[in-house]
Amino acid sequence: MKLFYVKKGDTIYDYYETIPEAYFYKKKLMDNQWDINCLIDKVIEVIEINKKLDVNTIYEVDIKYCPHCRHRIKKNIEECPHCGIKLKDYY
Ligand SMILES: [Zn+2]
Repeated sequence: MKLFYVKKGDTIYDYYETIPEAYFYKKKLMDNQWDINCLIDKVIEVIEINKKLDVNTIYEVDIKYCPHCRHRIKKNIEECPHCGIKLKDYY
């Protein structure tokens, strides 16, 4: 639903879904002396800001190396699965 619009006098220029969007294009119109043509080349960028993470998936955000055997290990594990060294002592 497009609830917000940019209006000057009796002329409604365009409708928008959010206030920031309406303000953005109002400013653009003002910067262009209310020339409607400045809206024709408007670019709408869709950003997935609400993309949810799957809670059933383990996301490995950092990879470390064992200080003893130099194998790749996960961050924050208590002991190295390769050589068995206690990693807590190194954190
Ligand atoms: Zn190790």
